[in-house]
Amino acid sequence: MTSTMTADSGTDIFRFSDEIGPKKIVAIHDPSCDLKAIVVVDNVGAGPSIGGTRMASDVTLAECFRLARAMTLKNAAAGLAHGGGKSVIFADPAMDPATKETLIRSFARAVGDITDYIPGPDMGTDERAMAWIEDEIGRAVGLPRELGGIPLDEIGATGFGLAIAAEAVEEHAGIGLRGARVAVQGFGAVGHHAARFLAERGAVLVAASDSRGTLTSRDGLDITALQALKAAGRSLADAPFGTVADRDAIIAVECDIWIPAARPDVLNADNVAALNARLVLQGANIPATHEAEEYLHRAGVISVPDFIANAGGVICAAVEYHGGTQSQAFSAIEDKIRSNTSAVLERARADNVPPRAAAVALARERVLKAQSLRRFA
Ligand code: NAD
Repeated sequence: MTSTMTADSGTDIFRFSDEIGPKKIVAIHDPSCDLKAIVVVDNVGAGPSIGGTRMASDVTLAECFRLARAMTLKNAAAGLAHGGGKSVIFADPAMDPATKETLIRSFARAVGDITDYIPGPDMGTDERAMAWIEDEIGRAVGLPRELGGIPLDEIGATGFGLAIAAEAVEEHAGIGLRGARVAVQGFGAVGHHAARFLAERGAVLVAASDSRGTLTSRDGLDITALQALKAAGRSLADAPFGTVADRDAIIAVECDIWIPAARPDVLNADNVAALNARLVLQGANIPATHEAEEYLHRAGVISVPDFIANAGGVICAAVEYHGGTQSQAFSAIEDKIRSNTSAVLERARADNVPPRAAAVALARERVLKAQSLRRFA
C-alpha cells in the first residue's frame, strides 16, 4: 500500500516546504512483512532525484527531509543532472539476511512507481540491497560490479572525495596534509577510506572511533589493521594497540583534521567547544548543527560542509547510472570536489560567512536555475 500525503493529511506535513521542495513525501506500509518506510523526493529540477535508502529504526521525518535536502544541494553543487531525495526503512539493519531481503524487495516494489526517485546505498543498506532493488524495478545506483556497478563503498569514492577536499583546503587555507594529524569518528565505509586516502597524502591517523569506543595513538594507527578488525566484525575498542577511550572521546582529540563519518548532529552546541582541530571535513551527512557551524566559524575552524566534501559517493553513482567507468568516476570526483571546495571557501571568505552558508547559496542558485527551465519541478 502506497499513499501520497496531501493537504487532507494535515498541513503540518508542509512545514518543510519552501521554493525548491519537497516535491513529495510518500509513506509506505506493507503489513505482510511489516515494512514501514518513507520516501522524500525533495527536488527534481535538474533531473530525477538520487539519494540513499537508509535502514534504521530511529530516523524522524524531519531528519529524512533534511537528508533529502542535503542531496538536492549536493547533486546541484556537483553539477549532476539529478535532484535530491532520500528514503528510510524503519527497521534494525542487523536483522537476519533473509528477512532483510524480503523487506528491501517489498520496499523496491513500493517505490517502483516513484520514477523520479533513484535509490542508492546508505547506512544499513549496501550494494547487495541495491542489487535486490535493481532486480525488482530496474532502477538503483551503487550496484555490485557483477551487475555493471561501480562499488562506491569498496573503492572508497566518498573517502577519496574527502581527501580531495582536504587538498583544496591546503591550497586555499594552508592547512598542510604532510604530517597532519587526523581523527575519524565512525570507521566505516566513509571513515576508513578517508583515513587511507589522507594517509597516502602524508597525513597520520591519530584517532578513530566506532559505536563502541575511541582508539588513539599519537604515533599513528595502522589503518590496514583497523580495517581488518572491522571486516572481521570486531570493534576498534578490541585493537591490540593504541589507547581505548569511550565512544565520544573522539570529539576532544587534539588533531589538525577532524572527520565526522557516522551520525547526524554529532557536533552540537553542547560539545563543539571541546573540538580541538583546525579543519572539519564533513564525511557524514548533517553532522553539525547550525549552532555548531556558527561556533566553528567564529573560532576560525574551517568546516567543509557535507554536501561539498562528501559528494564523492553520489558523483560515482551518477557516473555509474549514465554508463561511465570507475576511472571516469574518480576523475569526476577529483574535478568537481576540488573546484567546488575552492569556490565555497572563496565565497565564504569574500562574504565573511560560514562555508555552509556560501555552499547553500551556490547550490540554491543552481537548483533555481535548473527549475526555471522546467514547467513543473
Ligand atoms: P557505515 O555503516 O559503513 O559506517 C558507520 C560507522 O560509524 C560504523 O563503524 C559505526 O560503528 C560507526 N558509528 C555509528 N554510530 C557511531 C557513533 N555514535 N560514534 C562513533 N561511531 C559510530 O556508514 P558509511 O557508509 O561510512 O556512512 C557514514 C556516514 O556518511 C553516514 O552519515 C552516511 O549517510 C554518510 N555518507 C556516506 C556515503 C557513502 O558513500 N557511503 C556518502 C555520503 C555520506
